[in-house]
Amino acid sequence: MSDASMEQLAEPRPCSACGETSGYLVTEVVSPNYEFSNAIEPVALTAAMLEGKKAGFFSSAQERVPVKLAARVCGSCARVEFFVQDLALLERFAAAGVGNVRRF
Ligand SMILES: [Zn+2]
Repeated sequence: MSDASMEQLAEPRPCSACGETSGYLVTEVVSPNYEFSNAIEPVALTAAMLEGKKAGFFSSAQERVPVKLAARVCGSCARVEFFVQDLALLERFAAAGVGNVRRF
């Protein structure tokens, strides 16, 4: 996500649940203890599974294409809103009809 987009996310605006305008911006949402679980470090939407490395006995040939997330957290009610860091990536998948991304 560009610095300009991150600045937009950090701008005060009313929480959709309680109206509070202050809060916290988490610039990249990361899994806790990802190294000990079957998770990836940044919490991400899996937009598509694309053909990647050659398949092995214990692995498929498909690779997850993650779309990283940022989050705004309301300073009063703690409501969390997630934001995709790379909107252009979703647009490319939607335009190509790849993965589980559709435009609405
Ligand atoms: Zn709130």
